[in-house]
Amino acid sequence: MPELSPPLNTVIALPSDQDATGRSLGNEEMALLADAIATGTLTSTKGAFVRTLQERFSSLLGVEHAYACASGTAAVHCAIAALDLEPGDEVITTPITDMGALAPLLYQGVIPVFADVEVASCNLTARTIEQRLSPRTKAIVATHLFGNPCDMEDILSLAASRGIPVIEDCAQAFMASDRGRYVGTMGAVGCFSLQQGKHITTGEGGIVTTADAKLARRMELFINKAWGYGDPAPDHYFLALNYRMSELQGAVGVAQLEKLEAAVARRISLANALTAKLEDIEGIVLPLARPTARHVYWKYCIRVDSALYPDGVSSISRFLKERGIAAAPRYIQKPAFRCAVFSEQRTFGKSRWPFTLATPEALDYSAERFPGTFAALDGIIVVPWNDRYSDEHVDYIATAIREAAGAAVRRAA
Ligand SMILES: *Cc1c(COP(=O)(O)O)cnc(C)c1O
Repeated sequence: MPELSPPLNTVIALPSDQDATGRSLGNEEMALLADAIATGTLTSTKGAFVRTLQERFSSLLGVEHAYACASGTAAVHCAIAALDLEPGDEVITTPITDMGALAPLLYQGVIPVFADVEVASCNLTARTIEQRLSPRTKAIVATHLFGNPCDMEDILSLAASRGIPVIEDCAQAFMASDRGRYVGTMGAVGCFSLQQGKHITTGEGGIVTTADAKLARRMELFINKAWGYGDPAPDHYFLALNYRMSELQGAVGVAQLEKLEAAVARRISLANALTAKLEDIEGIVLPLARPTARHVYWKYCIRVDSALYPDGVSSISRFLKERGIAAAPRYIQKPAFRCAVFSEQRTFGKSRWPFTLATPEALDYSAERFPGTFAALDGIIVVPWNDRYSDEHVDYIATAIREAAGAAVRRAA
């Protein structure tokens, strides 16, 4: 092992996306927020800030339609609702995700069917999706985990061959791309989150994108209680919620959007710098995007080879935490299907609906069916990533990981 320099005597406080240290909220947001308040119009049905955010986001991505909404969860709900599925229809999705990507499916009466992930990326692939296709499959949710895009070409061609729409969950993947196309512009609908910990934030918030005029109209309505604003004879056309973003959030969002591309570029260059510093450590697998993909590093996820580091995930994470690096061993502690909402079917009263509509196959969560998922979760450590890290912060993290790996090897020897 090379000499460690400088030795880690002191713990550095790294910028955190949970407060001002790791967020780009500043004068620009304050100024637009003041403008919004001065108008006295805080609802997006009358104001201009949310509309501006939508227009700018759709032109940034080059997609025809974008609608802001209350959260990433609401965005996924809009996407599923726009497809107007039948209760009991199946939607293939990933067990390594945020519950906000799953709960809306159950609320909409459809069955989340979990496909396995590939270990290298923790993402679904066309192959793992294919294993779960059934005559009831009516949509696929492709989640670009940690900012690393799924192999969309394969997934889209599988989906097209069966006539099934793909929803992209881009909550962790603003401005990521695959073969020159941004995520959120390739599938039928893209879903984004503006929650506190995402690439940019309005505290809470979400955006949906689509090139399809019919889906766009249904999503706009779904955000607005399906009330036909501006129509000659408006009505509540179907069951829908109030998922609007307020003008206060819209104003902050407009200012944040200006900072998005710089934040993404900085995250990528910092991540590349860390990767270069860690490349020679045996048994630590660094994040790698496919050559055609742009990984936007929501998190920096490393994989630990258990042959070299038995108990490496726990011991290395513990070591990093002692250094003030909020590393998350295993990312989420268990696959989503091990959470009570799925394992005990806790939904509406005692009804277990919509699980009562599902086939046994769709609800088969036995571990043998998810080798990639368990292997992936058992082996990863998720390092918080931030565009406000300095080069020194990256050095500090690199040294800490090198030390942690060295200590883990010594312990194992
Ligand atoms: C954050 C997140 C969501 C939910 O977004 P909220 O704004 O927290 O509701 C959905 N999917 C993924 C992959 C996420 O990371």
